[in-house]
Amino acid sequence: MNLPDRIAFTIPGTEFAVYWYAILITLGIIAAVVIAGLCAKIRRMPKDTAIDLCLAAVPLGLIFARLYYVLFELESFTTFADIINVRSGGLAIPGGIIGGFLGVCIYSLIKKKRVMGYADIIAPGLALAQAIGRWGNFFNQEAYGVAVTNPKLLFFPFAVRIENCALDGCECTVAQHGHLATFFYESMFCLIIFAVLMFLTVRKKMKHNGDIFLVYALLYSLGRGVIEGFRTDSLMLGEHIRVTQLLCAVIFVTVVLIIVIRAILEKRAGHVLCAMDYDEYYIPDDSKNVEEVTAEEDLEHSDSDDDEDETEFFEDVEDGDGVHTDSEIENEDSTVTDTDSQD
Ligand SMILES: [Zn+2]
Repeated sequence: MNLPDRIAFTIPGTEFAVYWYAILITLGIIAAVVIAGLCAKIRRMPKDTAIDLCLAAVPLGLIFARLYYVLFELESFTTFADIINVRSGGLAIPGGIIGGFLGVCIYSLIKKKRVMGYADIIAPGLALAQAIGRWGNFFNQEAYGVAVTNPKLLFFPFAVRIENCALDGCECTVAQHGHLATFFYESMFCLIIFAVLMFLTVRKKMKHNGDIFLVYALLYSLGRGVIEGFRTDSLMLGEHIRVTQLLCAVIFVTVVLIIVIRAILEKRAGHVLCAMDYDEYYIPDDSKNVEEVTAEEDLEHSDSDDDEDETEFFEDVEDGDGVHTDSEIENEDSTVTDTDSQD
């Protein structure tokens, strides 16, 4: 097993090193915004929704990811400069998700729309971002699990070798052993969550506003809770309780309770509560200001290429090979039939 280098490259002419971790987190955020844009389209949200949500969620997410880490490692931080120096490492995903969610809440208050619809379009991209970002731990040689001493099991992706193992008296430093590649397990698990959520979103399988996010919370808390148990670097509450495991348990139970209580209330009420509404976030054309509409009309009349595009667009839809294309999603009629057939 070769050992990775945490530095991707150094900016020429300077000593400023760019870490793989930073590159992967950035790639994760970009992927999350692209996926959120796709999901927003399916939910008929305005074009800029994904970018707006990114601007609302990412800064708060990063701040809370750091706060969560610092709060449970207080003894390692003496000055404020230490706390804000993220380059020394220490961002915690659960804190990031809490902060990001707070940002989304603020956005929904400004827009006066239900927050869970926004959470729905973010969840799949978030899972993908986590799958990508976790590889930062591979390059940093961190977030690994307990020591693996059986030489037959010393292969990647089951185990990884760690150069400067942080554990006192760990066997791996003595005998070239490795550790469980917990970062890899979590990355793969997040990829599966991403695939499940995309399937549910594209096929419009969910009945309730917020269901996609609830599925994300349920699956991630379950997977992370289990994988956390194999890690050696968990933030601890007292001597025995892993903070993240406790949080995962609370989230898992809460989501199950929400689903059960909602089902009971629905049975009593005789109809779906918090129903999914694909028109909820849609802003009809007549709300645009008059100048904008006139400008668009002018374009339509003057540009003959536009007409050609439209013809192609309808041909695409009629071809209907069973694969969901962007144009299929855009086409109102086909979406309506889609939903009907699945009820
Ligand atoms: Zn070790």
